[in-house]
Amino acid sequence: MKNMFAKTKLFATLMAVIFLASTATAQDLSDAAIKTALNEAHDKYKNNKDGKNADYIKELARVDSKIFGIAIVTADGKVYTVGDIDSKVSIQSISKAFVMAQIIEEQGHQAIQDKIGVDATGLKFNSIVAVEEHRGKEINPLVNPGAIAATSLVAGVDSTAKWKSILAKQSEFAGRQLSLDMPVYISEAGDNLRNQAIAHLLLAYGRMYFDPAQATDIYTKQCAIAVNAKDLATMAATLANGGVNPITKKMVVSSETVMYTLPVMATAGLYDDSGIWLYNSGLPAKSGVGGGIVAVVPGKFGIAAIAPPLDEAGNSVKAQLAIKYIVEKLGVNPYKITPKK
Ligand code: GLU
Repeated sequence: MKNMFAKTKLFATLMAVIFLASTATAQDLSDAAIKTALNEAHDKYKNNKDGKNADYIKELARVDSKIFGIAIVTADGKVYTVGDIDSKVSIQSISKAFVMAQIIEEQGHQAIQDKIGVDATGLKFNSIVAVEEHRGKEINPLVNPGAIAATSLVAGVDSTAKWKSILAKQSEFAGRQLSLDMPVYISEAGDNLRNQAIAHLLLAYGRMYFDPAQATDIYTKQCAIAVNAKDLATMAATLANGGVNPITKKMVVSSETVMYTLPVMATAGLYDDSGIWLYNSGLPAKSGVGGGIVAVVPGKFGIAAIAPPLDEAGNSVKAQLAIKYIVEKLGVNPYKITPKK
């Protein structure tokens, strides 16, 4: 009897070990697993002091470099947050992914390919050489030249109408009315000669679709939209949910638009380190020099982190570390395939 009891106990222990071994690497998106992953990531990286705020836009150097917030919004609308959730940063380049989606929605995906391009340039995000090399072709909407071209394509009779339309669309993605961080806009608008030059060079090559000075101004406003981590995670979650905002339930763009947006995020979302990012996370993502990063786990959730200090490539140090940690912990790298037995 005693022997049988011991055997049963041994069997139960073995089963528990096998179960734990199989779940340790499997995907676990339970409430508890998501909360644990977020808390662990925040704890692990909150004291990381690497990187520094962008300062080529003067106002960004003044942002509190200790801000560190992380959020996940699932495709069925659950919200999980940790850390500094009320602080906002300017959206900067993250807006580009959503303007790209807006253009696809308005003009079809072929327009992006034909009028801008969808190739990674392999050069810096504000490279003039990238424009010069192919006479304004073979760039993409996630680097400055392609982004200013994309902004110039937004429907609207004049500059005000185009700006209103962009702000409305970014707000639909975020699920609330967003607004402009005026000091950031003014600071960058007074100092964006390089972007003005890019826009004029594109015009010279027939690849700018509105007045270049006004397109650059709208683009500068678009980059100065203020967002918190939850806003960004909701924007990413709308992509993760095939274009329907999982909180407001509004269809913001079609699932086909999402299908064409995510690949460019995968190949060109993190500046010169896009390859390194994709290699390590498997996820389409977009970063901005304000310190935010969004990443999309298709069909599952959007994740975002904000933390202003950036690495050499211009990507938030802590946001990258936190998102990578969470992706790994939750087992959501889409290239992680469990072989069929
Ligand atoms: N407004 C910024 C610029 O044009 C955006 C840069 C970024 O976030 O990559 O330089």
